[in-house]
Amino acid sequence: MIDHSVIDHGVTDHGAPGDVIRVDGVTKAYQSDGLPALADVSMSVAAGEVVAVMGPSGSGKSTLLNLIAGLDRPTAGTVTVAGRRIDSLGESALARFRARHVGIIFQFFNLLDDLTVEDNVLLPAQLAGASRRQARARAGELLEQMGIESFRDTYPARMSGGQRQRVAIARALVNQPEVLLADEPTGALDTATGQEIGRLLRSLATAGQTLVLVTHDPEMAERYAARVVHIVDGRLAGAGVGALR
Ligand code: ADP
Repeated sequence: MIDHSVIDHGVTDHGAPGDVIRVDGVTKAYQSDGLPALADVSMSVAAGEVVAVMGPSGSGKSTLLNLIAGLDRPTAGTVTVAGRRIDSLGESALARFRARHVGIIFQFFNLLDDLTVEDNVLLPAQLAGASRRQARARAGELLEQMGIESFRDTYPARMSGGQRQRVAIARALVNQPEVLLADEPTGALDTATGQEIGRLLRSLATAGQTLVLVTHDPEMAERYAARVVHIVDGRLAGAGVGALR
């Protein structure tokens, strides 16, 4: 049977069918002298998979996430996301790619404090060319899905950390990205709230959302991810290598 979801995502010969993310032989050196932040990393993530990237501070987790997000480019190697080679795109092409195909959530939410919850969520949709009416409809659905529809006209500063992270997740999903990336999404939350957000992310994955979760918390990784990739000193290590497909 033909899997139309794969064809719609435009997978090219750079990835196996069903791979939404493929990182091949990627090295990232911030300085030309000294050790690279990532060294010859290869991994892939299938559609609908939840993969946790674990490793100590400074091991290269955020660098890897930023390369998948198209926020930065590798020194060597290829990065293919949602069927597109993004490692050699220019700035404006990368910005367009990010807007359409990737949603990102961060430890400290990164919301705009002088915009209401609704305006925070619909901003990326408007930047991607949606009409305000379309964007509001989509934002409304997501706020409801996140259980925060009653906060639509509230400013983020008046909300708890868990509520703000729900706003950030709604914002990340507003353009229906193939890939959701999360960089320590529970790092600024208490344990109970962190578990709520973890369950929410897992429910999105159950509904088919591909998710890469950077965390240094083994419990979070084991509880919410189907596969854990370990990075040590910029290289995939241990279970991560075993888990490579
Ligand atoms: P992690 O997310 O695992 O804490 P990072 O990917 O942030 O690790 O960092 C990996 C290494 O790259 C560290 O040695 C860090 O100091 C370095 N690094 C990260 N970002 C930059 C940057 N923009 N410029 C120079 N060095 C950086």
